[in-house]
Amino acid sequence: MSNVLVFKRVRLTHDDRKHRPGECAHLHLNLDSRGDIVSCVDCKASLSPFWALSMLSEQYQLALAHVDRLTARLVLADGRIIDLSRHRSREADDAKDGSNNAESPLD
Ligand SMILES: [Zn+2]
Repeated sequence: MSNVLVFKRVRLTHDDRKHRPGECAHLHLNLDSRGDIVSCVDCKASLSPFWALSMLSEQYQLALAHVDRLTARLVLADGRIIDLSRHRSREADDAKDGSNNAESPLD
């Protein structure tokens, strides 16, 4: 008995070398979990899952860096609000005392 099945009316050629999943610049992925297929929604290109994972990792790092920058700005803004509040309190105290030697908040 042979291990080869012969189909008289069907010819099947399977050549993985023709499938070249690649990459694109659209960053708009479609993930087909049933077929484990990654493609671009915009240009319909078949994408390499490894490239997609690398791209997502890079985008995640960019997002984390953006969060860090926003956090630093928030810390600076909080410090500035505290400085201005202290200055305003000093001005209010000086106004009660009748003195007028408040520093500018921009100093
Ligand atoms: Zn694309």
